[in-house]
Amino acid sequence: MLPPISSQKPDELASWLVEAGEPVYRADQILRWVHKGSICDWSQMGNIPDGLKSKLSSSFTFSSVKLVRKQGGVDTTIKFLWKLSDGQYVESVLIPASPSFYGEASDRHTLCVSTQVGCAYGCKFCASGLEGFKRNLKPSEVIDQVLSVEALFKERVSNGRRLITNLVIMGMGEPLANYDNLLDALNILNSTWSANIGARKITISTSGLVPQIIKLSDQPKQYRLAISLHGATDGVRNKIMPINRKYPLSKLSDAVEIYQSKKKGSITLEYILIEGINDGIDQVPHLAILSERLRAKVNIIPYNSVEGLGYQRPSITSQECFVRALIDKGVRATLRREKGHDIDAACGQLRLKVEKKLDSKEN
Ligand code: SAH
Ligand code: SF4
Repeated sequence: MLPPISSQKPDELASWLVEAGEPVYRADQILRWVHKGSICDWSQMGNIPDGLKSKLSSSFTFSSVKLVRKQGGVDTTIKFLWKLSDGQYVESVLIPASPSFYGEASDRHTLCVSTQVGCAYGCKFCASGLEGFKRNLKPSEVIDQVLSVEALFKERVSNGRRLITNLVIMGMGEPLANYDNLLDALNILNSTWSANIGARKITISTSGLVPQIIKLSDQPKQYRLAISLHGATDGVRNKIMPINRKYPLSKLSDAVEIYQSKKKGSITLEYILIEGINDGIDQVPHLAILSERLRAKVNIIPYNSVEGLGYQRPSITSQECFVRALIDKGVRATLRREKGHDIDAACGQLRLKVEKKLDSKEN
């Protein structure tokens, strides 16, 4: 299979051009089209001669993701289902700025991207792990989720501005289990010649892979870190997150503290509220101690129920009660009412629902 163009770095593309008997200055032009042009294929590369276009198209694939379904509408959360070259599916979700997410209205758009097909970590409440782990995404498959959404919304963004200002690595998969490909992709998306998304505007979410958190703290970029906590005691976490048996809260919080001390950026603790599982007020003091020690803010997210898993989101009253109790203890806590509840916006849900339907239609 041909290598993808979107993960070619400037020096790699320059070497290819030399081999192909083409001038090296074309590398800048090609990369500009690929990363900033919001185009869908080679034919749209205006200033590239036809001969070079045809060499490019027989040496590289243009995009490694193909849109098969788009769900949602203007100014709401939009979910994209992509088909990969081997027939697997992954999802991305575009989230427009909302006062509850950012604290102010703005034209910010955040894209939530996937990093694996399926997930090996098997959290009990999550749709992504339901059918196990299939494979890691390649750097190009992460990058192409971003570039393809930009191309789809080209008309809405004028004067060469970009739509996506922020990234959250919270789609399908455990990003830190695909560490090298993830970092390759993010370092490209962070580059000025690519999407130029600031490292502080990129948040990596992990269920708690301790060695990789420590490794991440040693790389130079200021990527933000979010920890999927979902329980403030080992008792609760063990029940719903198998990873906690390998890396219990004591080890996890040591690793996060190391990250915090090296990066100086604020850490987020993600806490989905699941009825009868982790929404008891007894969790509040433990969560308050953890967030104070890690100088972390806490995002409380009402659980998005997944067909067949039997977990529910608590009532609005108990959600508010939990958050108020945290705030009373001095925690920087926000209740994040995402907009995607009605379009299966939690990771893995859309893929699970339509994968079989689409496969049977196409075969
Ligand atoms: N594997 C990584 C990143 C992907 S999951 C992680 O676990 O952090 C992104 C976030 O969505 C995690 O916080 C995860 O716990 C949460 N999540 C999973 N299923 C959910 C659901 N049904 N409703 C709400 N959040 C969910
Ligand atoms: Fe994997 Fe994250 Fe889902 Fe857990 S919550 S199964 S780590 S994707």
